[in-house]
Amino acid sequence: MEFRVLAEAYEKLEATRGRLEMMAILSELFKEAKSDEIDKIIYLSQGVIAPPFEGIEVGLGEKFVEEAISLATGYQVKKVEEVYRRTGDLGKTAEELLLSKKQMSLFSHPLSVQKVFDNFMKMAKTSGAGSQDAKIKRLAELLNNATPKEASYIARFPVGKLRLGIGDPTILDALSAYKAGDKSLREELERAYNLCSDLGLVARTLFSDGIEGIRKFRIKVFNPIRPALAERLPSAEEIIEKIGKCAVERKYDGLRMQIHKQNEKVEIFSRRLERMTHMFPEIVAGVRKQVRAKDAILEGEALAYNETSGEYYPFQLTMQRKRKYGVKEKAEEYPLKLFAFDILYADGEDFTKRPYHERRKTLERLIAYGDVLKLSEMMVADDPKELEAFFEESIEKGMEGIVAKDLNAEYVAGARKFAWIKLKRSYKGELADTVDLVIIGYFLGKGMRAKFKFGGLLCAVYDEKEDVFRSVAKIGSGFSEEQMKQFEEMLGRIKVDHKLARVDSEIKPDFWVDLTYVVTVAADEITRSPTHTAGKGKGESGYALRFPRMVDLRGDKSPEEATTVAEIIEMYKMQKRTQLEET
Ligand code: ATP
Repeated sequence: MEFRVLAEAYEKLEATRGRLEMMAILSELFKEAKSDEIDKIIYLSQGVIAPPFEGIEVGLGEKFVEEAISLATGYQVKKVEEVYRRTGDLGKTAEELLLSKKQMSLFSHPLSVQKVFDNFMKMAKTSGAGSQDAKIKRLAELLNNATPKEASYIARFPVGKLRLGIGDPTILDALSAYKAGDKSLREELERAYNLCSDLGLVARTLFSDGIEGIRKFRIKVFNPIRPALAERLPSAEEIIEKIGKCAVERKYDGLRMQIHKQNEKVEIFSRRLERMTHMFPEIVAGVRKQVRAKDAILEGEALAYNETSGEYYPFQLTMQRKRKYGVKEKAEEYPLKLFAFDILYADGEDFTKRPYHERRKTLERLIAYGDVLKLSEMMVADDPKELEAFFEESIEKGMEGIVAKDLNAEYVAGARKFAWIKLKRSYKGELADTVDLVIIGYFLGKGMRAKFKFGGLLCAVYDEKEDVFRSVAKIGSGFSEEQMKQFEEMLGRIKVDHKLARVDSEIKPDFWVDLTYVVTVAADEITRSPTHTAGKGKGESGYALRFPRMVDLRGDKSPEEATTVAEIIEMYKMQKRTQLEET
């Protein structure tokens, strides 16, 4: 495929205001792709060159892209900087300067998708002395052969600013529409995606082996599986009512890890499925020593633990272990323990289809006694009082609460189901749980805050069915001066001049932003609201948070992993039930 075709599709995608239209443009684009290029088209459209767990990034800063533009156009870097300052966009800068290019290329070939992808991949793989220069040259080569429009996308790519905002569900729907003309294959495609977390691979398989190939999809060690998630319920009684006799585990407040092992090779993936193996040498060593299987995929929560006092350290301390530098020193200061709670694969067998009680037995059998890996503490309860007592004890020990697990449920990859139910401590007059919201826009400071170019956030929850972000809260409190400064900078960098296609909001902030950041938010309760669009039906009100306040930035979640509209409605119902019980 010529890159021109992709650039034209991007232009259309940028102009759409609706998700269905976005899907239609993509499925039309897929019709023009061959099976050996569809994966590249998908990666490029998502602004990456490989699935996130591969950790392969082009990694070129703005200054270097400016140099590449200068090299390709013949304009001095100073001139490039000047245009960039005016337009605020490296893509527009490249486009404008290429239009009035000083030097003509000697010969220019039409660029192919393959060529653009290959150059980006080579840039990503260049390292060591002189690597920046080599990367600049490769980028300049592309820009030199590009039309101004193509150049605008090529220049944005290396700095992570492609800004098409296409979500995974939209791509899955578009693949289904391409193959079947409707959404009927979405579920099967999603299952394959949940097992490998690689949309490029799913698409390539669909193109080369059809839906049969998708049906034959199997777990592969070192391809992370999309994590199972927990539902919420407000009380021990409701949990037992819902799933009956169940397993109850402590809810450890640390870092979720999915660990893959094949012989001596070990990889650790985060909740967002990013590779973080190098940060946790003690866990890698512990897995090698204690896991009694040649191949295995297991999950657990890792946290810092004070061996002398037997206390768990607070979450913030564990988080300090997520770092690039000083890994060894921090690992010695705060070594982590891994509380294993599930097993998904062992020695050629897929355990995700097995019921929890079997998986737990296998986990107990495969983890040898040792210092680093522990089994999550668990009991089986069929009486709410037993569950309640275990919950109280967990809180007393400084934990977040408990996770109850349906003894007969499969491991539901990539979904929030009642197979797992979390129960957390709730305080009177406060929402039982915090929620994780996506920042969709922000407001400028007024009054005391006028000195900042930041005064509050407009936040949304995720509508999984529609792949759309719907507004649920305006947040004006909970920010320290330092945080306001931080937001001013962070959000200033991602502001856009229009509402994105996947955003649904009737409230207009001072600035819209790219969907990038997730924040944890506490509130007093959930109320019905005529102004917010979360859960809003025809002629019906939406839902909103009452007295929302920012707790923290949540770095381990992507926008698609934020709290969903369905969860907000569930929480609203839960709150009503509890209020009735209290009166
Ligand atoms: P939260 O912010 O409440 O941790 P979340 O959105 O990150 O929620 P959920 O799936 O809703 O994730 O809640 C379950 C989370 O609890 C898991 O992601 C995992 O990190 C953590 N956890 C701690 N202990 C356990 C356990 N024993 N079993 C399963 N998950 C556990």
